[in-house]
Amino acid sequence: MIKITKGDKPDILDQKAAEWTAEVQAALDAGEELSKSLKSKYNHASVKAAIVTETHGKCAYCESKVRHVAPGDIEHIVPKSIEPALWFEWLNLTLACPVCNTNKSNHQGFVDPHDDEPSEHFWFAGTAIFPRPGSQKGTLTETVLKLNRSDLHDRRYDRLSSLERLLRIASNEVDPALKAVLQQDLIMNENKPEVEYAAMSRAFVANAQAQGLLP
Ligand SMILES: [Zn+2]
Repeated sequence: MIKITKGDKPDILDQKAAEWTAEVQAALDAGEELSKSLKSKYNHASVKAAIVTETHGKCAYCESKVRHVAPGDIEHIVPKSIEPALWFEWLNLTLACPVCNTNKSNHQGFVDPHDDEPSEHFWFAGTAIFPRPGSQKGTLTETVLKLNRSDLHDRRYDRLSSLERLLRIASNEVDPALKAVLQQDLIMNENKPEVEYAAMSRAFVANAQAQGLLP
């Protein structure tokens, strides 16, 4: 998980969020079943597009690129069932892969990718993500979302292998100028937020620097 910089609120939420929230609250107060259309108002095309842009099409929790296999689910950080007032709240909406979304269900109290700095709650060792000792939020997030599930380990290992290849190519380059370019490319590119599993890539680069393998 990495910190997500929230983009500008889409106009539709500026214009309609208060009205939709009042409709939801009125229906809940009256004990009425919410209509399908009301329940999915937040799934407006402009909202989805803005969320995909700010998350780079990655799950806010596990950092898997989801858009090439599924549209991705708009995720309510505070679950809909717990806080109806936040159904259409821009800061409460992000993108999640179907697996993280299902695992999260109605739980709350997770590391918030908008408000928290995830690196203060997690650390990486190879492909494994661990909660930092003392971080209850980190422990809850890792456990409930199953951030060390085996398919994620497999995908992260593929990323780690390609990083290791790039590091080896840069390290073996004999021309000093080209070597410096390859090393800087590795450091710059793998730290970018749009990279899949960027938190792990950043840990790899930091580790390589600590070992004297990168400047
Ligand atoms: Zn996910």
